[in-house]
Amino acid sequence: MNHSPHDYDLILVGSGLVGASLACALAMLETGRQLRIAMIEAGGDMPRYSGGQFDPRVVALTPASRHWLERLQVWEAIRQARACTYRDMHVWDGEGTAAIHFSSADVRQDCLGHIVENSIAVRALRERLAQLPQVEVMQPVSIVELRGPQPMQPGVQVTLSNGDTLQAPLLVAADGAQSRVREMAAFRTREWDYQQQAIVTTVRTSQSHEHTAWQRFMYTGPLAFLPLQEAGDTHHCSIVWSADTPLAEELMALDAAAFCERLGFAFEHRLGNIEHCAERFCVPLRQRHAQQYCQPGIVLVGDAAHNIHPLAGQGVNLGLLDAAALTNEIERALVRNIPLADYSILRRYQRQRLAGNLGMMSAMEGFKRLFGHRSLEVTLLRNIGLQTFNDLPLLKNYLVKQVMGV
Ligand SMILES: Cc1cc2nc3c(=O)[nH]c(=O)nc-3n(C[C@H](O)[C@H](O)[C@H](O)COP(=O)(O)OP(=O)(O)OC[C@H]3O[C@@H](n4cnc5c(N)ncnc54)[C@H](O)[C@@H]3O)c2cc1C
Repeated sequence: MNHSPHDYDLILVGSGLVGASLACALAMLETGRQLRIAMIEAGGDMPRYSGGQFDPRVVALTPASRHWLERLQVWEAIRQARACTYRDMHVWDGEGTAAIHFSSADVRQDCLGHIVENSIAVRALRERLAQLPQVEVMQPVSIVELRGPQPMQPGVQVTLSNGDTLQAPLLVAADGAQSRVREMAAFRTREWDYQQQAIVTTVRTSQSHEHTAWQRFMYTGPLAFLPLQEAGDTHHCSIVWSADTPLAEELMALDAAAFCERLGFAFEHRLGNIEHCAERFCVPLRQRHAQQYCQPGIVLVGDAAHNIHPLAGQGVNLGLLDAAALTNEIERALVRNIPLADYSILRRYQRQRLAGNLGMMSAMEGFKRLFGHRSLEVTLLRNIGLQTFNDLPLLKNYLVKQVMGV
């Protein structure tokens, strides 16, 4: 393939977990050796956290996501930097008595997943990208103009904030929840505001987290404690407290000591006292799903295509499945000598991912609404339903395996 300096086979926008892993996967394909990929990233380098300091943004990776990162040869770097296994998950209804316990032993796995700091995973992927000559990383730059394919210019053309112009037959948007590409290319979305905010921070608890992910459901939203580990110390957790906006604002206004007190109470002191809490961040929660994942020359992956409530801890796992599906389709095109932007390729990717993502989002929406109900009848039925589910190991283990991808 002959290229002028600003001609590429593929432009990838966004080097987060999803975009960076997609770039690695494409560059590692046997058939991808000749590819020229432009990777455009608006942010700078990832901050480093060490000692008892943790990135407030963490993800719960399923075993399927871990296998994908192993395939990209980055899992070992992530594991060595810092990752915490969780072997159990305990979920309970804060307004009733029902509880569900998931255990890795019940599904014959060594763990249910890993809690990983976003910055560690992204850094490992970017270091891997630096070893792959097919990928040219442009950072920090963003897209200021985008032109889709025209009759006289079949590729996608983008102008960057540094004045450069690039073109390629295919552009992949992995630029996250606030995707500029999605907006500039006028993809239609279905979205609504949850009227909730997620407070995220790291806390130290007086008792060990026991490698368990904990989640308490309340009328005002779920509270999750996700286990972290530093040099064998198991007293740190990353918390995600999703709360109706007025409550979230009230909690954010508290000083650290008062917040720890409220948090311990909301968590029913399951891990003893909250001894320390790091800086708190507040993220508005929105459900958003693109109605189509592709249009001629442009395709969406990860949070650019879908945002899901964090109660499931599934956002990035769905995004990595998008990346894997798109890699397979692009590989298929390369093997068969089909142009990368051939619409059948993009449509096949969309067919594989859209319905499944929508299904997961609907299930989480159902969960959120079920726990948001305050009526006594619903609370009673919910508790009976949850307890019955917990007492049906075959069904419970089947569902766990589905989510884990094992
Ligand atoms: C509070 C909270 C808790 C969560 N917890 C979990 C969890 O436990 N498990 C889980 O699986 N998921 C979780 N998620 C979701 C998860 O964080 C996201 O699904 C995931 O980070 C999406 O990855 P991504 O690569 O698609 O997007 P991002 O991580 O947002 O990456 C997008 C990248 O694009 C870059 N970018 C943005 N705009 C531009 C532009 N115009 N030009 C160039 N580059 C650009 C950004 O700098 C960034 O590097 C949580 C989300 C929230 C809000």
